[in-house]
Amino acid sequence: MNPEQYHTDPNCLFCKILNGTIPSKIVYSDDHCIAFLDIRPVNHGHVLVVPRHHHKDIRELPGEFAALVATVIPNLARAVVQATCADGFNIIINNGLVAGQTIFHGHWHIIPRFLNDSVDWPWPHKAYSDEDKDQMALLIEQALESQKTD
Ligand code: 5GP
Ligand code: ZN
Repeated sequence: MNPEQYHTDPNCLFCKILNGTIPSKIVYSDDHCIAFLDIRPVNHGHVLVVPRHHHKDIRELPGEFAALVATVIPNLARAVVQATCADGFNIIINNGLVAGQTIFHGHWHIIPRFLNDSVDWPWPHKAYSDEDKDQMALLIEQALESQKTD
């Protein structure tokens, strides 16, 4: 995917940040993405990495383009940790309303974490029967296989 193919949605908040209509505290920028401070951070130093191509969620990104954007994540994570003296960090992408996505222009969160920062993590986990595991693995494998013929 070349920069000429990038799509913009005039009603999208992050597209407006990308084109400078809405101000933000940008910490990194290249041909494919920008990174800026989240306006309501989980912890100070919380950064959003936003591809320059408008897309609803990560399913709409060509894999090669997603990989290109993700290339900057290790450098940004190191910078966030160094700047905040964090003890660790979470990298997450929320996809869909039910998963907590509020801005429907997909993006990566880099969230610095501190000992006893009272952020509610980890999520609760569920048990699996062997049968359920086998069935689920099969369904996902079949779905992957079907993408090859789509
Ligand atoms: P999501 O919930 O979609 O995964 O993440 C959206 C993030 O964008 C939230 O963490 C929210 O605080 C942040 N956000 C929403 N509006 C703005 C804004 O106008 N400027 C900046 N810098 N961040 C925003
Ligand atoms: Zn957008």
